[in-house]
Amino acid sequence: MSSGKSFYVTTPIFYVNDAPHIGHAYTEVATDFLARWHRQAGDDTWMLTGTDEHGQKILRTATANGVTPQEWADRLVEQSWKPLIETIDVANDDFIRTTDPRHEKAVQDFLQKLYDDGFIYAGEYEGFYCVGCEEYKLPNELADGTGQYEGEKVCAIHSIPVERLQEKNYFFRMSDFQERLIELYESNPTFVQPDSARNEMLQFIRQGLSDLSISRSTFDWGVKVPWDESHVVYVWFDALLNYVTAVGYGQDDANFDRRWPATHIVGKDILRFHSVIWPAMLMAAGLDVPRQVYGHGWLLVGGEKMSKSKLTGIAPTEITDTFGSDAFRYYFMRAITFGQDGSFSWEDLSARYQSELANGFGNLASRVVAMIERYFEGVVPPQGPASEADLAVQKVVADAAAAANAAVERLAIHDSLSAIWTIVDELNGYITDMAPWQLSKDEANRERLGTVLYTAAEGLRALAVLLHPIMPKATEKLWTALGHRDVLGELSAQPVREAATWGQLTAGTSVNGLEPLFPRIETPVA
Ligand SMILES: [Zn+2]
Repeated sequence: MSSGKSFYVTTPIFYVNDAPHIGHAYTEVATDFLARWHRQAGDDTWMLTGTDEHGQKILRTATANGVTPQEWADRLVEQSWKPLIETIDVANDDFIRTTDPRHEKAVQDFLQKLYDDGFIYAGEYEGFYCVGCEEYKLPNELADGTGQYEGEKVCAIHSIPVERLQEKNYFFRMSDFQERLIELYESNPTFVQPDSARNEMLQFIRQGLSDLSISRSTFDWGVKVPWDESHVVYVWFDALLNYVTAVGYGQDDANFDRRWPATHIVGKDILRFHSVIWPAMLMAAGLDVPRQVYGHGWLLVGGEKMSKSKLTGIAPTEITDTFGSDAFRYYFMRAITFGQDGSFSWEDLSARYQSELANGFGNLASRVVAMIERYFEGVVPPQGPASEADLAVQKVVADAAAAANAAVERLAIHDSLSAIWTIVDELNGYITDMAPWQLSKDEANRERLGTVLYTAAEGLRALAVLLHPIMPKATEKLWTALGHRDVLGELSAQPVREAATWGQLTAGTSVNGLEPLFPRIETPVA
């Protein structure tokens, strides 16, 4: 079922030199959740992720490891980045690498067009360069070094010394786009979200934009500038273009028109690249700007941003090996307000796993399936006349589904999950109040008992549909146990915007044993 709406969503591309940590996984899961939701809603959905493989830092690491930069990138893509997206159960539609010929060719076409149209000129650049950031730093982005770097200027983000570089560069006339960017921000107030991020970027643009150095000639690991092969394209300029090269820019116009523009999900530390430089590049090329740029917050562990350089990096497998990928996905999307910084702790993860997943949702599912097996020999009973309590359940389901869909539209992922969870709480309360085990004691209550279990099972159906984008594995198990596959079809094909339509469960459907969706974790995690 197609809604006819296009939804193209992207993650930033991973810098291959980094080691995957839960910060990367967080962005991936958020993006994948949105993609799965829209896909299940019938929107023409495309999710892109990939790797950023050029630049001086990659070249240096590869050389230090005695391999070519291409070999180094190949190794990390296969050993680190593709395994990461499997670990957290991401269903991306494409994986682009900036060393793909399709990308390199399109980057050159894009650059040549800007050059031919007068948006690029040759000039001299002198400044402080951070190899960690792969960018020139402004004086206010530097700090005084300490310890082994005492007396030197260091990058405020990386705490490593910056290098003073002077080179002939090609420059992009970004300063030409200041007014158009301000106009964009004002005419489209949700272009950059959340509001705090938008305001910060707008203020930055209003201070005035400098032209951007977009080539390097001191090393050669990058896309060659087409009219001057002694230069390679600045790694950020190259990387940003992945969002259009992956969907056919300059090579497949039909596909490009079908997909573009995209919604970009990025960490707030790279917001400026995506909400200032990138739209200016697109404007220069005569292309549409992104649909939206969303800057999410940082994951904090012990109050510090998660990153390898700060030694707080946690590998996603450390969590998924114990709790599974569904719990990983659920925890980070539920516990942290999307758009704000959030703290990760093992205690919080463990507590939510136990109370919300194992006891709240998992136990509810097991009980309902077990009662249909016990009282109705595993066959879903028909629904009799609805009582007030039954109608209340139907209303909670309808309200929750509407609220969840609305929250996803504004990328409030945490709100969508809280809304869906009202169904879990309602059904648990409903079963306690209706006490099917009491009803079962008197044959006269047979019809009422059937209605109660039908209502609970139908609520579970809605939950499976609504929770599928966040916990694909557990909901598939539930879908199988409820016997829906033969009657309603695949879970991934159930339209999420119609999840609340009551009565989709057919009486007479056979249910079968459900193993615990979220098994008890035996070893307490420190
Ligand atoms: Zn830096």
